[in-house]
Amino acid sequence: MTESDINASVGRYLLRCGFDGFRPKAALIDMDGTLLDTMKWHTLAWQRMVSELGIQCSRDEFYLYEGMTGAETINLMFRRAFGRDATRQEKTELYARKTGYFSELPRAGIVKGADRMVSTLMEHGIIRVLVTGSGQLSNLARLDEDFPGGFPHDMRITSHNVTRCKPHPEPFLKAMELAGVEPFEAIALENAPLGVRSASDAGAFTVAVATGPVPERDMWEAGADVVLPSMDDAADMLSLLLTTF
Ligand code: MG
Repeated sequence: MTESDINASVGRYLLRCGFDGFRPKAALIDMDGTLLDTMKWHTLAWQRMVSELGIQCSRDEFYLYEGMTGAETINLMFRRAFGRDATRQEKTELYARKTGYFSELPRAGIVKGADRMVSTLMEHGIIRVLVTGSGQLSNLARLDEDFPGGFPHDMRITSHNVTRCKPHPEPFLKAMELAGVEPFEAIALENAPLGVRSASDAGAFTVAVATGPVPERDMWEAGADVVLPSMDDAADMLSLLLTTF
């Protein structure tokens, strides 16, 4: 993106939200598919667990549920197949089974360019808050190693801190509160339509990065202010944006 593309995107964002200025101070960043290249294994683990229940499902559909908590995804499957909600015990057991299948798969790398994206934010003194629907401890723990100093433990919103998950705006609103910023001071980074909807409705300048098979069109429809094809592009764009604003 050029400087004038960025200015145009920010202009449309200000109109969309009715703000008179954009002063980025914090970045609110999703984890799976944005920082960690884990979606390929999450979708495989979901498909395996759900198929075992005798429920017809495709691997790709789980990319669309990304951002929901595990319990909500299980509920969605139960309503579709059995016409009822899953019980608390079913949700706990089945999420544990899915997490077990995930952990049998090879360790996923980080999304290419994510390290550069995070260090660009750090160089510009931008506060970072993690905003994930995940509660998976193994992935949360590895962030310290993969992004040293990038995500302090008291600056994380996970499935344990919210009552309503993405696409509801609550996770991003809570992240703004944690960072002590207003929506017009926040940049959100997301890779999934439900996460984009949550960030966009919370009023953040929402950058969607298409790191998986979900088409860019779905990101625009979910309310993205910018859609980019890779995290390397996002790192370049942020560097330019933070120099300009
Ligand atoms: Mg994600």
